[in-house]
Amino acid sequence: MNTEILPGATLGVLGGGQLGRMFCVAARSMGYRTLVMDPDKNSPAGHIADIHLQADYQDHSALTKMAEQCQVITTEFENIPADSLRFIARTTPVYPSADILEIAQDRHIEKQFAQQAGLSPVPYFVIQTEADCVLAQEAVAFPAILKSNRLGYDGKGQVLVERTEELLQAFHSLNNVACVLEQQIQLRCEISAIVARNHKGEKQCFPVSENQHKNGILHVGIVPARVDEPITRQAQKLAFQLADALDYIGVLAVEYFVDNESRLYFNEMAPRPHNSGHYTKDACVTSQFEQQVRMICGLPPGSTQLLSPVVMVNMLGELWPPQWRVILQHSEIKLHLYGKKHARAGRKMGHFNVLNADIESAIKTAKQVFEALSSPVSQNG
Ligand code: ADP
Ligand code: MG
Repeated sequence: MNTEILPGATLGVLGGGQLGRMFCVAARSMGYRTLVMDPDKNSPAGHIADIHLQADYQDHSALTKMAEQCQVITTEFENIPADSLRFIARTTPVYPSADILEIAQDRHIEKQFAQQAGLSPVPYFVIQTEADCVLAQEAVAFPAILKSNRLGYDGKGQVLVERTEELLQAFHSLNNVACVLEQQIQLRCEISAIVARNHKGEKQCFPVSENQHKNGILHVGIVPARVDEPITRQAQKLAFQLADALDYIGVLAVEYFVDNESRLYFNEMAPRPHNSGHYTKDACVTSQFEQQVRMICGLPPGSTQLLSPVVMVNMLGELWPPQWRVILQHSEIKLHLYGKKHARAGRKMGHFNVLNADIESAIKTAKQVFEALSSPVSQNG
């Protein structure tokens, strides 16, 4: 990339979910035009984009149209076929690259890559056959978690294996697909570092978020994370290392586990803005979505300075319809909805950020509001 892509240009997004939507909002407010490609006519990002190209990700004539109309293209989820990116990249720059997407699409390849870059994945063993299930019993301490190598998200494609004897059955329950078996870490907490890097190798890292999950789905993010500073510094340093090793352009999220001995394990990466970075929309000088615009356009990274401690709370379909007043009566809450018509349990419908100079007060408000929304009385509001 030799030239900067400036406001007025058209930015393309493959994928029309909430991440694409928030990217389009940021891009449009910065004066860019946006084109979203997604097969769903009701996609959250399609509604916000200047142009919604309603087509399948493998539709070469639609990909050609997209490439012709956009100066640069990005993706908002990992499972876009890498070959579609290769097809576009013949004429138009795409970030992340097809090669990076392929790494992120496969847990085993991703762990190997992270390890080579100096990060420490959780102890794991590759399971491809029933025979591997026998070998794994020596290699990994139980309880362990069996995860399908591909297509997992929000805890899907994962089975907790308490005892060695349960492994074979767990493998069958995932239809014998290629998996990794990971030791279950006794978690003190989970954290993530979101790093941005451009083609010149200029980098910035957002403040580290402390992430609490429920049923494998992110529930709450707390920033600043309540862990010792050497741990957050290390998480940021390793995220930079990984971004450099990938020669990454864009925003990259790195998820970690911290165990009871304060050991930091690499969990997984996401080659895009991340749910645990939604707090940046209200609490940082630059949001992760503005940062993605800057990176793919060849601009310098914006400041990632934290303006206020913040708690981000995910709103899933089971809260629907929420009692809006419970949220909006709080002057320090910022509400973000994704424009999804149909609520389903586990479906990410929106989030809210609680900003307060005192993080403990923000945590308390977040908890109170979430509990009030979850109580049966408030469900019909
Ligand atoms: P996904 O791709 O669905 O986000 P993750 O591998 O991040 O998959 O797992 C989802 C959540 O499940 C994690 O954030 C964590 O709470 C829990 N989990 C996953 N693997 C482990 C592990 N090895 N030890 C402890 N908890 C785990
Ligand atoms: Mg995860």
